[in-house]
Amino acid sequence: MFVSNLHIKSRFQIILFLVLITAFLPIITSAQTKEVVAKKGDGIYSLLKRYGYSVTETMEDFIALNKENLGKNNTLLAGVKYKLPDGETAVNETTAGKTEKPAEGTGKTVRYEIFGKEKADVPIESNTLNGAIYYLVAGHGGPDPGAVGKYNGHTVCEDEYAYDVTLRLARNLIMDGATVYIITRDPNDGIREENYLKVDHDEYCYPKQTIPLNQTKRLRQRSDAVNALYKKNRGAFQRMIAIHVDSRSQGENIDVFFYHDKRSDTGKKAATILKDTFQKKYQEHQPGRGYGGTVSDRGLYVVRNTWPVAVYIELGNMNHERDIKRLIIPTNRQAVANWLAEGLIQDFKTNK
Ligand SMILES: [Zn+2]
Repeated sequence: MFVSNLHIKSRFQIILFLVLITAFLPIITSAQTKEVVAKKGDGIYSLLKRYGYSVTETMEDFIALNKENLGKNNTLLAGVKYKLPDGETAVNETTAGKTEKPAEGTGKTVRYEIFGKEKADVPIESNTLNGAIYYLVAGHGGPDPGAVGKYNGHTVCEDEYAYDVTLRLARNLIMDGATVYIITRDPNDGIREENYLKVDHDEYCYPKQTIPLNQTKRLRQRSDAVNALYKKNRGAFQRMIAIHVDSRSQGENIDVFFYHDKRSDTGKKAATILKDTFQKKYQEHQPGRGYGGTVSDRGLYVVRNTWPVAVYIELGNMNHERDIKRLIIPTNRQAVANWLAEGLIQDFKTNK
């Protein structure tokens, strides 16, 4: 009796608490984001002007904030509510996560410990990607190894191979003058030249966050990390690149796949440039291999929930022998990174 009374009392308290929270929630959120209703004939430009925003500074943020409610080619729909960007950036810069920033000018060498002993020194060879900012997100990591395969008696985990390619890509982009944020990070792996990459679980999320096991929490954590940086770098050319080695495509399809947000024309363009680059490279290096890679839109969490233009790449599948065989060879991982970098340079030149 006593116990059940207590139970009822605490349930009542929880309900009361929920009622209070729900009652106050709209006030809290509306204080943070200002919403306005578009009039007939409004475009983003006229709307931002009307509310006193600098159009060049806030255009990208506005599009990012309202992606879901924009019409074709980012037109505004009359009668629809749109969020206005915050007046100022609200990012706590921490020193824990070092940003891989470009050095001034070429001919310099910059040291980034994240690439490991052998590859830590990065020579800056060109200015080609000056002004471009990349958020590189290697899939899975921490407690989640991603897809797990077996090859020659070795256990091969997706997250390690995705991370190795991601580091190689990061290093290439920096060599060409880009600013790169490595979002999934490992304190001691570096770029590895072994075939079989040791499985560990000490990856963390930029700047210094423990990766949760829960999938939704994990994806939200990395999306939040990207979005905070996106806000800080507003106005700049920015890309989120997610790299995986498992496949969502049906059946026996194995190849390199590129996904973009269905609301993003630029994302589609970027993904197509990357796909075309791979197609061209395969024709050059393995004529007759055939290439079945595709570009498509998919409701992938990190693509939908991050603000920069995003491309999500599946390099293959850790459960397919042919893909494992390809990716356990370090020079192949480097070739993939080189091709991705080449495609991203093309994307920067075309879409900036
Ligand atoms: Zn994956």
